[in-house]
Amino acid sequence: MNLEKLEQSIYDLVTETSTNLPKDVRRAIKKAKDAENAGTRAAMSLDTIATNIHMADDNISPICQDTGLPTFKIKTPVGVNQIEIKKVIKKAIASATADAKLRPNSVDSLTGANSGDNLGEGLPVMKFEQWENDFIEIKLILKGGGCENKNIQYSLPTELEGLGRAGRDLDGIRKCVLHSVYQAQGQGCSAGFIGVGIGGDRSSGYDLAKEQLFRHVDDTNPNPDLAKLEDYILEKANTLGIGTMGFGGEATLLGCKVGVMNRIPASFYVSVAYNCWAYRRMAIDVDATTGEIKNWHYQDGEKISFKEEPQTEEPKSEKKVVELTAPISEEQIRSLNVGDVVKITGRMYTGRDAIHHHLMSHDAPVDLNGQIVYHCGPVMAKDENDHWTVKAAGPTTSIREEPYQGDIMKKFGIRAVMGKGGMGPKTLAALAEHGGVYLNAIGGAAQYYADCIKSVDGVDLMEFGIPEAMWHLSVEGFTAVVTMDSHGNSLHADVQKSSLDKLALHAERVF
Ligand code: SF4
Repeated sequence: MNLEKLEQSIYDLVTETSTNLPKDVRRAIKKAKDAENAGTRAAMSLDTIATNIHMADDNISPICQDTGLPTFKIKTPVGVNQIEIKKVIKKAIASATADAKLRPNSVDSLTGANSGDNLGEGLPVMKFEQWENDFIEIKLILKGGGCENKNIQYSLPTELEGLGRAGRDLDGIRKCVLHSVYQAQGQGCSAGFIGVGIGGDRSSGYDLAKEQLFRHVDDTNPNPDLAKLEDYILEKANTLGIGTMGFGGEATLLGCKVGVMNRIPASFYVSVAYNCWAYRRMAIDVDATTGEIKNWHYQDGEKISFKEEPQTEEPKSEKKVVELTAPISEEQIRSLNVGDVVKITGRMYTGRDAIHHHLMSHDAPVDLNGQIVYHCGPVMAKDENDHWTVKAAGPTTSIREEPYQGDIMKKFGIRAVMGKGGMGPKTLAALAEHGGVYLNAIGGAAQYYADCIKSVDGVDLMEFGIPEAMWHLSVEGFTAVVTMDSHGNSLHADVQKSSLDKLALHAERVF
C-alpha cells in the first residue's frame, strides 16, 4: 500500500472531522433553530452555534476547542497490514495537532503531563475489524470531555429520580434513556445526540452506545420496537425544557439512536453515550492499494451553510444587555441578575483545572482583583513572527472547578468567572458572600469566541501545557449570559428543578 498517500487521506479525514460538521448534523441543528422561540437566550445560543459552524468551515479550524479523544474504527480486507495502518494514523494525528486542527489533548493520567501531539499510551483509540470488502473503511469520532462526562450507565432494575422503578423490560429502558437526558442537563453542550446500547457487559454496552453515534441522524432503526423508542425519546426529551446550553427552551435533544446486543441473565445494562451539538464524526472508504480516498460518508442531502441565517433579535424580552469591562467593581457585579446578557470588552484571563489547583497554594502571576477568569483551554498556534494566535477558544465545563472556585475568587478578588454548564452550591454561596457572578458562554462556540479575542497579550504558567496555561486575552463584544448571580439565584438550579417536574410526568408505563 502507498503509506504516504494513506497518511494524507487520514490527515484529511481528521481535518474534515474537526472543522466541518456533517450535513445530517447541520440539518438537525437548523430544525432546532427554526423551532426555537425568537428573542430568547436559547435562540441567541443557537444563532451563535450556527455562526460558529460556518466560521469553522470557512477557516478550516476546529469547530470546538475540545477536539476530544480521537477514536478510529477501521475495517480492513483480509491480508492488509494493520500494524502499518496504526503507525500511519499516529503520524497523521501528530501532523494535524502540529497544524492546530486538533488541540494537544493527550495527558499522562498520573502526572498530567501533556504529550503535545495527541499520542501516548492507548491514544488515539484504534479498533480494527476484518471484512470481506476489498477496500478499507475508516471512521473517526472526536467526542469532547464535556459530553463524555455526561455518559451514563444503568444497571436494571433500578430506581430513578422522578421516574421511579425501571424494570428489566422495554419500559424500564425507556425510563433510563429519558433520565439520561435529564441528568445531562445543559452540561454536555445541549442540544445533544445520544447513542444507547442495550445489553452486553459494562464495556461492550458503552461500545455499542458509541457505535450508534456513527448512524445517520435521519435513518430509521430496522427494529420496530427500537424505532418506536427512538421516536418517543426524541419527542419527550424535548418537552423537558432544558434547552440549548441548559438555558431553557424547546431544543434539548436532536437525535436518539438505540442498539441492542445479547447479555447474560445476571446483568441488564442500558448504556448511554451523550454527544454535544458539535457532533464530529466522519468516515471514508480508502483504496487498499493506492491509499486514496474513494468515498466520503454522510454526504447525502442538503448542506446548510448557516452563512445567510437571519440572527434572532437580542433577548431584550427576557433580560437586559450589559457592557462589562474589567476591572469590575463589587457594585457593578451586584447590579447583575440571572438572565442578563453581558458583552465583555477588555482583559480576561484563562484558567482551568491546573491553574485553579495551583492558585489554592500559590500567588497569582498577575493581579486578579476585579478581573474575569475564563474557564477555557484554547487551541493556540504561533505565527511567523513568534506571536501566539488563538485558533479556537470556547468555554470548558466549569463544575470541575467547584472545589476551588469560591476560595479563589475571595482570595484574589476575582469578580466574574465564565465557563459552561454552571457551578454548584459552594460557588453560589461564595458569589453571594464576596460579590461575584458566574457567566455561561456558549459551549462549543470556539470559532465565534476566537474571533472576539483581539490579541494575546501574555501567558503564564506554560509549564502546565497550552490548554492549562494562563493566557492574557484582550476581547471585544464577548457575549455570555449571567446564570448565577450574587443574590443566590442560579438558572441551572431552576432549570434542573423544572425539568425534574416535567420528567415526573413520564413515570407511567408506556411500552
Ligand atoms: S461542544 Fe461542549 S461538550 Fe462538545 S466538545 Fe465542545 S466543549 Fe465539549
